[in-house]
Amino acid sequence: MRPYLILFISITLFCFNSLSQVEGFQFVPDANYNSEIPPPKSILGYDIGTKPLRYGEIIHYLKTLDEKSEEVQLVEFGKTYEERSLVYLIITSKNNFSRIEEIKNSIAKLSDPRKINSKENINQVFEKTPAVVWLGYGIHGDELSGPDAAVQLAYHLVANNDEVTKKLKDELIILIDPMQNPDGRERYLTQMQQWKSEIINSDAQSIQHTGLWPWGRGNHYLFDMNRDWFLLVHPETQARVKTILSWNPQVFVDAHEMGSFDTYLFSPAGPPLNPNMNEFNHRWRKIFSQDQAKAFDQYGWSYYTREWNDEWYPGYGSGWSLYIGAIGILYEQAQTDGSIVKRPDGTYLNFRDAVHRQFVSSLANLKTTSKNRKNILQEYFDAKKNDITIKKGDPQSFIFVANKNITRLNDLIEKLLMQNIEVEILETDIRIDNLHSIWEKKLISKNIPKGSFIVNLDQPMGRLAKTILEFDPRIDNKTLEIERKKLEKEKQSKMYDVTAWSLPIAYDVECYWTDNKIKARTNKLAHTTIPSYNIDNPSPKYGYIFEYSDDSALKLLSLLLEKGYKVRSAREPFTIEGISFERGSILIRLNENPESIKSDIILFAKNLPVKLYGVNTALSTSGPDLGGNDFILLEKPKVAIVTGPQISLGSFSTIWHLIDAKIKMNASILNVDGLQYFDLRKYNVLILPSSNSPQTLSQILGKEGINKLKKWIENGGTLIGIANSAAFLADTSTGISKVRLRHQALNELNIYNDEFKREKNISNIKIDSVKIWDSPEANQKPEERKSNPDLKILEIEDEYLRTFMPRGAILALTLDQENWLTFGMEERCGAIVSSSNVFLSKQPIQTAARFKSFDNIRLSGLLWPEARRRWENSTYLTREAMGNGQIILFAGEPNFRGYFFGTQRMLLNSILLGPGWGTNKVVDLE
Ligand SMILES: [Zn+2]
Repeated sequence: MRPYLILFISITLFCFNSLSQVEGFQFVPDANYNSEIPPPKSILGYDIGTKPLRYGEIIHYLKTLDEKSEEVQLVEFGKTYEERSLVYLIITSKNNFSRIEEIKNSIAKLSDPRKINSKENINQVFEKTPAVVWLGYGIHGDELSGPDAAVQLAYHLVANNDEVTKKLKDELIILIDPMQNPDGRERYLTQMQQWKSEIINSDAQSIQHTGLWPWGRGNHYLFDMNRDWFLLVHPETQARVKTILSWNPQVFVDAHEMGSFDTYLFSPAGPPLNPNMNEFNHRWRKIFSQDQAKAFDQYGWSYYTREWNDEWYPGYGSGWSLYIGAIGILYEQAQTDGSIVKRPDGTYLNFRDAVHRQFVSSLANLKTTSKNRKNILQEYFDAKKNDITIKKGDPQSFIFVANKNITRLNDLIEKLLMQNIEVEILETDIRIDNLHSIWEKKLISKNIPKGSFIVNLDQPMGRLAKTILEFDPRIDNKTLEIERKKLEKEKQSKMYDVTAWSLPIAYDVECYWTDNKIKARTNKLAHTTIPSYNIDNPSPKYGYIFEYSDDSALKLLSLLLEKGYKVRSAREPFTIEGISFERGSILIRLNENPESIKSDIILFAKNLPVKLYGVNTALSTSGPDLGGNDFILLEKPKVAIVTGPQISLGSFSTIWHLIDAKIKMNASILNVDGLQYFDLRKYNVLILPSSNSPQTLSQILGKEGINKLKKWIENGGTLIGIANSAAFLADTSTGISKVRLRHQALNELNIYNDEFKREKNISNIKIDSVKIWDSPEANQKPEERKSNPDLKILEIEDEYLRTFMPRGAILALTLDQENWLTFGMEERCGAIVSSSNVFLSKQPIQTAARFKSFDNIRLSGLLWPEARRRWENSTYLTREAMGNGQIILFAGEPNFRGYFFGTQRMLLNSILLGPGWGTNKVVDLE
């Protein structure tokens, strides 16, 4: 995971065991290499394993291999954000290269049994077709040994003349993705070069090993790409998935590193296992691991399987590949940070040893594939045949209803198409019965409009589709028993990652599934279409209006604000010139804007696209008139995002990416250490992503820093706090927000509960005129209630309940339909939560989103009854005034992994609408 490079300049000076092994070292003893193929040392100047290779060195050497041999081809398949090439190697025999398209077609047929016609001799295909192996290295850029092993492996496969290697090239198409995250690796190696020391340092705590923030794990935007495999937020993953699926591999390897004091871990994984894994996955993972173990036993190396890696979340490489039909395999090698580390048992592990283990693993997996080629192809085909037939009672189809937010639905559908999931588009309106919904517990019937999308699961990628779309997969009881015991006894969870991920819930789209196959007129979809809108009345007398529900509207709004145009946001729904607009719709008055607005807005709207309406009057037929005070003047957001080592990388990265790469809005990134010194007057929106703990920010800012923040808010700033940073702002000792953390308000739980009931009543006001006019005594008597138990008891109980925090579960929110923070949204959405901080709010704080009650709070993922009780009716999103400014708090990550579009919208609202909606402005003097 960490640093690098210590030159082994004079190895003899050192008497470490592991280093002396380096002399005369060979990755494969007695290999007989073809002298026409230049070994890495002849090109790079040193042996593989001496120090980690830089990006340029890897590319240069692989190009050389490509030039020197007809058994290898280097292919560029994409670019990173920092414009480095993403490459992979095809290695196979000359003979296979000469019929590579035929091989690709044969494999494509095996992966889609519908393409095999009955006359075809399928046995011939098994006989003649090489198996495809995809080997990926270094998706976490600071896990260094994989890419170097990939280079050595490529050399070995191309240059070795022995029968075993020849057989590998005859029997296999070997695809090597040597460096999955070049941006992260280069960031890390540059840092390691900076800390390089003359004297080799083997202390794993030293900076040569730990590196510095933001390390090299993530890509340019610091995202963990090994969670992105089915989310496809990033260009690297998109390009990689497209390439992999063009080959339909049977074996898929993802090579990582783990802590220095560890040994080596490989697949299979331990529980919880995703129920969508099939027998092919289970059976072959075991066989591969047995062979890999034998290869390690020859060297007497330590290794293990199953211990901590589970197979629940489908977004790791080794996990995602299972559902496309491959045997997905994970490697985890103890890291050396490119040099040498001393371990607690007194032994040393050096970089070349780490590279060697990755190399031996890779070779072992290739040999297992080649040895079992025919069986693997046959069983791969059988498994695919199984995938295209759905058992009775299992989900058959998912239905995505086309509604107001076409941009978002298109985005989701495109992500499915990128994964070769077949999607149909409805050609007529139909009624479908027995629909399973995200929100209702009973089955429902629904009219589904033309233009909606259907994913039938009886297709080759049906298992993948089910895995990433299903609303609520369940963990088995045995695993839950183990988890419960661990929580009770050790206060620790065994869950490695989130327990929920459902794409339809995260995207907040209307989606259903049914166990009946849908019979309707549909067309197979190649790509979604971007709507092209005509502008109604392009030269209006009064102004332009556009709806706010489609995601493209936010980009248009951002552009208009950026250009300095005066833009207004509607508090209420209204109807004008026969067209009804929802709350939050955007109005541009011509009398407030320069002439250039007319051409600019039409150009912007066309390109995005956004449906634009011109109106000739300010007089509405219902709702507020356009010239009144219900159209709030927005203000250009001047945004700063706080970052630094004490800020959660996962939280910061998603906010940075959202604002910069998606909305394309200018934002300053402020180092948290300087927050108390910077001139904050430049900004009107300050975002505090989640911090490493709720205490972190108070430690950094101190009293003075906190006072400075308060003043900035009082002067009109919009402060947005996420998760742990929200907890910091709500902490009683900070004194900024009036929102309370549950564990600091235990003796007021009754008050908050009353407040919640009152709030609920407000949304459901019904006037009983008798009670008001005729019978005052009928007014309700105060409700009797239990007095609070002793505070000490409550504290002990709360501490216990906190153990059962939601582990990346998706919980249901009720949204306040009158609050501007929920503009463009329906009355509910799902939010992912991984925290023990529960927030409470009461008037005058505005609660824009609240978790639902006990029975309805859990949408997906693991939520123990204790957590249900603690979280029910608590606060997700609040807005409160402070002086001329405001504080907005999110209880969880609104843009988790870049794909929770529902809660993401509320974050965007707080940024784009916040300065206009929630703060008092000063009218500047000339
Ligand atoms: Zn890793």
